[in-house]
Amino acid sequence: MTAIQTENIDTLAESLSGYLARQQINQVRRAYYYAEQAHEGQLRRTGDPYITHPLQVAGILSKMHMDHQSLMAAMLHDVIEDTGITKTAIKSQFGNTVAEMVDGVSKLSQIKFRSQAEAQAENFQKMALAMSRDLRIIMVKLADRLHNMRTIKVLPPDKRRRIARETLEIYAPIANRLGMNDMRIEFEELSFEAIYPLRYRRIGAAVRKVRGNRKEVVTKLQISLEACLEREGLPGRTIGREKHLYSIYDKMRSKRKSFSEIMDVYAFRIVVDRVDTCYRVLGAIHSLYKPVPGRFKDYIAIPKANGYQSLHTTLFGMHGLPIEIQIRTEEMEAMANNGIAAHWLYKSSEDIPSNAHIRAREWVNGLLEMQQHAGNSLEFIENVKIDLFPDEIYVFTPKGEIFELPAGSTPVDFAYAIHTDVGSTCVACRISRRLAPLSEPLESGQTVEIITAPGHKPNPAWLSFVATAKARTSIRHFLKSQKRSESIALGRRLLTKALASFGASLNSISSEAVTTLLEQLRLESRNQLFEEIGLGNRMSHGMAQRLTALNENSTGDEVLGNLLVREAESSVMNYARCCNPIPGDRITGYISAERGLVIHTDNCNNVAELRANPEKWVEVNWDPEIQGEFAVEVKVELEHQRGIIATLATAITGAEANIEKISTVERDAHFSIVNLLINVKNRVHLARVMRKIRMIKAVTRVTRVKARKTRRPTGRADSVTH
Ligand code: MN
Repeated sequence: MTAIQTENIDTLAESLSGYLARQQINQVRRAYYYAEQAHEGQLRRTGDPYITHPLQVAGILSKMHMDHQSLMAAMLHDVIEDTGITKTAIKSQFGNTVAEMVDGVSKLSQIKFRSQAEAQAENFQKMALAMSRDLRIIMVKLADRLHNMRTIKVLPPDKRRRIARETLEIYAPIANRLGMNDMRIEFEELSFEAIYPLRYRRIGAAVRKVRGNRKEVVTKLQISLEACLEREGLPGRTIGREKHLYSIYDKMRSKRKSFSEIMDVYAFRIVVDRVDTCYRVLGAIHSLYKPVPGRFKDYIAIPKANGYQSLHTTLFGMHGLPIEIQIRTEEMEAMANNGIAAHWLYKSSEDIPSNAHIRAREWVNGLLEMQQHAGNSLEFIENVKIDLFPDEIYVFTPKGEIFELPAGSTPVDFAYAIHTDVGSTCVACRISRRLAPLSEPLESGQTVEIITAPGHKPNPAWLSFVATAKARTSIRHFLKSQKRSESIALGRRLLTKALASFGASLNSISSEAVTTLLEQLRLESRNQLFEEIGLGNRMSHGMAQRLTALNENSTGDEVLGNLLVREAESSVMNYARCCNPIPGDRITGYISAERGLVIHTDNCNNVAELRANPEKWVEVNWDPEIQGEFAVEVKVELEHQRGIIATLATAITGAEANIEKISTVERDAHFSIVNLLINVKNRVHLARVMRKIRMIKAVTRVTRVKARKTRRPTGRADSVTH
């Protein structure tokens, strides 16, 4: 895209005649005159009449061969906001489609700034929504921002920096995501100059200085590449590429490279006629200069997320200078520079541009899905940001289906990419046929097989390693809804038990009594009552008391036993960290506000102090069927020996227990104490593990760590620390 000005409506109309019908051009003219009249008397900060701005925006869009409706919307894009003309008025003049587009663009500009992050997040959400209605809206908005960036110098410095930063953080990535490389580069250069004028000038001067020295090398290399293609009879044009200033700056900053390291790399692009020629050119230049191993990338076979296609390779050139080469067809070149805009620019040509269009649509739809799942706009933008800067990897299903994921993705991300249900029920995986942890980062080329178990649920711990927005939002979404249903179930059990101590049961309480209580508490349903109890906001004992009092017909025919602990930790049931109860231990439950039920061992030192509030205690027992792993602390006293920790670890894993934490305290020159946090199934399992440890010769003593007193005796598991 060139920054050439569109002089006036006549020169614009003339350039439009290259691709629009006379009738359509006339409609664009009509929109222009309408806007001119509406903005009459308004000036830009540059001192120009306001209408020059919409005219330039339309000019930018005409370079992309956007249709007449987009150009009309461009002409009218500031009319609603700046002149008080209504959407209805525009609709009656120019039809519904144009009115909707103008409205869409206006809405994107009407954001009130509260905090910077929040404003940005909202900006982004609105854009996603606007894009989903009509992709052309975002094109008009991008062109609008581009012209504003081109004239940003007239703004006061602080406003300039704020707008430039927003451009760099939102508009440039969107242009990139839509494959519009030329526009992205212009956004970056203009923003860089506006935010850091000094750095921009210094790097610019440095580039001009080395350009002279580089020129000779560039020419030599270009001649040798062209001669090579000529010899092999491969038609194509070779273009020397120069890095733009922002990308040099970004590389210096993020990759900590020196200016000369960056400038010592020579980059060329070879553009050819057909896909087949791309691979033949690759072969030819690989025999001209040695390729750098591991640097070849085939984005033709596997295009990037934004539709970008090309072959990339790096060669050792003369004197070992690295040369980066991109090889692509003319069509891919057009796609790489214009991205989604190529859809309009090359409407007549075959399937590649519309392919970009489809990808853009898919992306926008993905954004919307994320938005629905995200709790608030900040959470949403955090997710989108992950999505906007993809450094992709490519992995395969066992059937050879390919999946593209951001770098750092794990098997869990992969599982969610396949389907939300596969993600939520995954329990294990094989990476290239080897069993691997679900948290292991994946690498390109691996085959990943996900093992699922029906009924299995997402683990909150996954949030600490997943890399994709989809996995993150799905897990969070699940946890939110699960917390509710678990609270309800727990509340129900607690209330049932409390009623039993009054000789009553849920069935024996009349529905009138329940309704009365709900009314008194301003609750809407029985489930809401259960939830309140499960969350610890209401005490089951008190609720049972009130219910039985309200109920004249309480019969007491059903008395239930103890509450059974059925599962490993959940959002409303926690195991106290002070005593780490495991199945087989005698236990007792303490109900705390918010945290739900906290399970302690009977002999935990903290329990004695907490006894003061008897109504907060519930008798609990382990469900005999309980499964899962439970953390327990073990202290091992041993003699120093080479490799003793390894021996210890082997003994523990040999007994099928996992070590979660290991720490060593040196007692003297001969003896050490090793504190272990290990996961076991139950007391019997723990006994087996301890026996195994005792069998090690160097070990003198093994004990399970008993609860220590804490200073603040509360039922909150997280404040009962060790
Ligand atoms: Mn504008």
